[in-house]
Amino acid sequence: MKEEFNHCPLCGISLEWGFIEGKDRKFCPGCNFVDYKNPLPVALAIPIRDKRFLMIKRGIAPRKGAWGFPSGFIESGETAEEACLRELKEETGLSGKIIKLVGIHRIEDKEVHGDMLVVMYLVSVDEGAPTPGNDEEAARFFDVEEMPAFYVGRFRHLIDEIQN
Ligand SMILES: [Zn+2]
Repeated sequence: MKEEFNHCPLCGISLEWGFIEGKDRKFCPGCNFVDYKNPLPVALAIPIRDKRFLMIKRGIAPRKGAWGFPSGFIESGETAEEACLRELKEETGLSGKIIKLVGIHRIEDKEVHGDMLVVMYLVSVDEGAPTPGNDEEAARFFDVEEMPAFYVGRFRHLIDEIQN
């Protein structure tokens, strides 16, 4: 799980608990820093080409060894769209174009990152064979019939839309 602040990250003294803006939160009695808890912003690509889905096999936690869609944290100075296409490139070696926003979901990762706000885009993948990035064990296209069941269930509407 994510590390907790016990000391003020700004001035180093011990944080105390207080009831601040409707919640119990840690704060710094020295500089008034408040340890707000916010979800981490993540961009996720659902990359398609010829009605097939490009997936990656994760090489790192969370969900190491599981297949999933390319995703990663949105960095400062980047739009969600830019982060989505950057992660696609890093994790599969391929470029793409945003087709549309699929949705914005809250995901709680109990393994490493905690709360995440995941912005999902449908992406059209450019020509070329996928090659996994440093943090991926594999990257390849899936027909719907062979996709992991979890994803078929989760993205049923989108799959139907793409197949028809
Ligand atoms: Zn402080």
